[in-house]
Amino acid sequence: MSEPKLVYSSKINKIRGFALLLIFIGIIIMYGGILTKNIPWLMFTFYFIGVLFILFSTAVYFWIGLLSTRAVPIICPECEKPTKMLGRVDACMHCKQPLTLDKALEGKEFDEKYNTRKYRKQLKEEQNKEQ
Ligand SMILES: [Zn+2]
Repeated sequence: MSEPKLVYSSKINKIRGFALLLIFIGIIIMYGGILTKNIPWLMFTFYFIGVLFILFSTAVYFWIGLLSTRAVPIICPECEKPTKMLGRVDACMHCKQPLTLDKALEGKEFDEKYNTRKYRKQLKEEQNKEQ
């Protein structure tokens, strides 16, 4: 642990963490409903917001399911475990090794910007200039 190393987590894991957080927030808000059960309208409001958070989390889980079907399954070259990639660059789910599907990006420093539309557009423009 001598030099600081940036750790990237895979996108699917990040979204999963987000969905889990939403469930916790929902439960905490609903717990607020239990605490305020003497005030019916406040209790109802807490429950309603809590249920909204949990519904939203379910939607996010559903979205992860959809993303997973589009993700590219690969074997991580670093830890040799199967992982899934989303977009052109992503990190291994197990060892956080940055991975790329794009040969042009091989060896380059991992950056989320490689997945953005803006970067791709910029890359296209540069290629057009060279021709
Ligand atoms: Zn790995």
